[in-house]
Amino acid sequence: MKPLSLRLVLGDQCSLSLSALEGLDPARDVVLMMEVQAECTHVRHHPQKIALVLSAMRHFAEMLRARSISVDYVCLDDPANTHGFSSEVARAISRHAPEHVIGTQPSEWRVLEEMEGCAVDWREDTRFLADTSFFRRWAHGKKQLRMEYFYREMRRATGLLMQGEQPVGGEWNYDSDNRKPLPRGLAPPAPPRFPPDAITREVMALVAARFGNHFGRLEGFNWPVTAAEAQNALARFVAERLPLFGDHQDAMAEGEATLFHSLISTSLNTGLLLPREVCDAVEAAYRAGLVPLNAAEGFIRQVLGWREFVRGLYWLKMPGYKALNALDAHRPLPEFYWTAQSGMRCMDAAIGQTRDLAYAHHIQRLMVTGNFALLAGIEPDAVNDWYLCVYADAYEWVELPNTHGMAIHADGGIMASKPYAASGAYINRMSNHCAKCRFDVKRATGEGACPFNFLYWDFIARHAGRFASNPRMAMPLSTLRKMAPERVAEMRAEASKFLDNVSPLT
Ligand code: FAD
Ligand code: SF4
Repeated sequence: MKPLSLRLVLGDQCSLSLSALEGLDPARDVVLMMEVQAECTHVRHHPQKIALVLSAMRHFAEMLRARSISVDYVCLDDPANTHGFSSEVARAISRHAPEHVIGTQPSEWRVLEEMEGCAVDWREDTRFLADTSFFRRWAHGKKQLRMEYFYREMRRATGLLMQGEQPVGGEWNYDSDNRKPLPRGLAPPAPPRFPPDAITREVMALVAARFGNHFGRLEGFNWPVTAAEAQNALARFVAERLPLFGDHQDAMAEGEATLFHSLISTSLNTGLLLPREVCDAVEAAYRAGLVPLNAAEGFIRQVLGWREFVRGLYWLKMPGYKALNALDAHRPLPEFYWTAQSGMRCMDAAIGQTRDLAYAHHIQRLMVTGNFALLAGIEPDAVNDWYLCVYADAYEWVELPNTHGMAIHADGGIMASKPYAASGAYINRMSNHCAKCRFDVKRATGEGACPFNFLYWDFIARHAGRFASNPRMAMPLSTLRKMAPERVAEMRAEASKFLDNVSPLT
């Protein structure tokens, strides 16, 4: 008789095309799925993220069983559950006595380390468009790793939006068309709703009982939990929001949490959608004349470029990457990151919707909460933990390069050629928050001055020496030099007073 293989499927691996399932013999093999407490609490994940992963896992197991595949599923509330991956694999080995244990490489360093002692035959995660060796080869010998050049390589390698050897339309990047605020009177279409079914409701009750004290609202949970729902979400996005995605990709607006964004990161990151099918759907809409090129290219760049780039960078630079603190930032995380009560309208909007929806779009994460953490010099570990806790799409492989590298420049420029530091003027240009804020975005000192203004100039002055040789920082440094020293001193004093009055998390 053919020997039995135990096939591991981890929580973010709910894909039928998973390499661990390749060659599975339904008559002999067993799929092992494990809900372990440690995965819900290694940071205090948002209840919606926990519910999403557990529900996606349970639906995936049901789908496998419907295909006559035998699934050994260890539930969170199983009294025999030891709540660790290694110990659960060991228990399963004693139950099934498999000849082989086959897994797909975990997405996070921490999980791989935890499972180091397990005799698992690890296979490459083929759901990404670039495997880790492709990225290593591309990165080899390069002084700087820049997403734009990697992205062009990926366009060539996949043929996406290409016309022979040339990019469709003649340009690789249409970003300059994609920086428009939301015009008054334009209402973005609401994203589709996915009412929780019986499996999700059961999971939600479990999450409420066990993790109800984590930051974030569970009510209102609206994430796709099956591949069919995720495909529906993608199709609705392509038809309804993609046409204006490019134009308003960087916009923020009062009361508009999702604008023209896709909300598909949760589905991509749990394996319900594959990046290739997403890019193909977007390219097909462009080629059918349904969406403009700036939207299709802008979107494909996020998935084919940024998403693959951060994953490649993570596996290239870990584990040392996480410990970097290039800007010597040591301030504790302010309490208002958990309460949404900073008084800064842009911050409270981003944090409030994060609490309610486990979602904020890229510019809110980068240019509002991330920008504040960068300017204020908040300790990288605290910032990274916050981002990992609060979003439904948060996994370290994608969260860490974005936070540590892109948002707070803690990697000293490995990920981005300059810090994404901005004053209130940027937020005012891209949003309508400032008009309703108690702070005055036009002021950098004195009563009611916008904190982003004095914190920005304090940041530039604090790091002037470090950035002196960075050509991309030449403009702010030159402006700083032209300012009267008393004005700079005044702004720096405001910054220090403001930060001293911000209460840290106790
Ligand atoms: P859209 O705006 O519709 O973009 C489409 C897709 O492109 C996304 O679903 C995502 O898969 C991909 N994408 C876009 N930008 C990036 C990026 N910079 N890196 C990787 N993929 C990208 N994304 C996560 O998936 N998980 C995280 O934990 C995460 N943490 C972040 C932390 C910070 C500080 C920042 C600045 C960004 C972070 N991102 C993270 C990237 C990005 O903000 C989210 O992918 C995006 O907001 C998800 O919403 P959406 O699906 O509506 O995206
Ligand atoms: Fe944010 Fe400053 Fe605008 Fe207020 S005035 S919303 S703090 S940028």
